[in-house]
Amino acid sequence: MPDCLFCKIARKEFGSAVIYENGDVLAFLDINPRAPGHAMVVSRTHSETLLDLPDEALAPLFEGVKTVTAMLERALAPDGFTIGINHGKASGQAVDHLHVHVIPRFTGDGGGSIHTVVSPAKERGWNANGASHLRSPNPQAKSEAHPPKEALEEMAARIRKAQ
Ligand code: 5GP
Ligand code: ZN
Repeated sequence: MPDCLFCKIARKEFGSAVIYENGDVLAFLDINPRAPGHAMVVSRTHSETLLDLPDEALAPLFEGVKTVTAMLERALAPDGFTIGINHGKASGQAVDHLHVHVIPRFTGDGGGSIHTVVSPAKERGWNANGASHLRSPNPQAKSEAHPPKEALEEMAARIRKAQ
């Protein structure tokens, strides 16, 4: 994709701090790191999200993620990692070329878990009938610690049907 920033980085037309590359993937440090060593792993194949990444590019991408995580482990000895994808605009994806963030985590770094990026579903209701209710808080929503088992079963059944 000629104008894609991460394609340009992968082709070395745009500078970045590359930490790993092979024929399929490239990993480089985030220009605005959330932690020392905050890296991103991208496929050389342009795709916006996982859903349009060709199947044959999947394994090389996640092998790259594993390699880079191991390298960061050896280089920085963090206490853990947060590994994730901002997938689509609603999740905060700013660069339209799929990239996997590998963020070293340190005890006491003040960050939260992946669960902290959205407000708890319990505040929005447990309704499995469509997603529109998830886009705005439901004032009637119950605030149990966990959704009722039946609600999880209903959601699981709905998702299984989409396979
Ligand atoms: P997103 O929100 O799309 O998951 O994250 C995009 C990331 O790309 C951001 O963390 C941002 O700091 C990083 N980024 C944006 N432009 C550049 C750049 O030119 N070089 C590098 N190395 N990272 C960039
Ligand atoms: Zn691209």
